[in-house]
Amino acid sequence: MRKPEQFKHITTDDQWDKINGQILRELNAAERQFPDWPIEIDRGVAIMMEEAGETQKAAIDYSYGRGTKGEIKTELIQTAAMCIRMLSAMEPKAN
Ligand SMILES: [Mg+2]
Repeated sequence: MRKPEQFKHITTDDQWDKINGQILRELNAAERQFPDWPIEIDRGVAIMMEEAGETQKAAIDYSYGRGTKGEIKTELIQTAAMCIRMLSAMEPKAN
């Protein structure tokens, strides 16, 4: 089996700031549009995995020349936002 091609990549502070901003904007929009979040953890994971699946589809489409890197990035941002939303929902509630 052929070894996958790789390259060295370390995230810069500027890249992190840009990506973090995109994730937070997506998280805020999702929470406004869908304020209810499931209590059951497996349902929260299902929501996150739906976005991860859309990321996989976008990557496959891109590999076959049917999509763009921008579509992959959009789905990655949505997946990351749902990961953060789930982590946030799992935090103890402040009384
Ligand atoms: Mg999506």
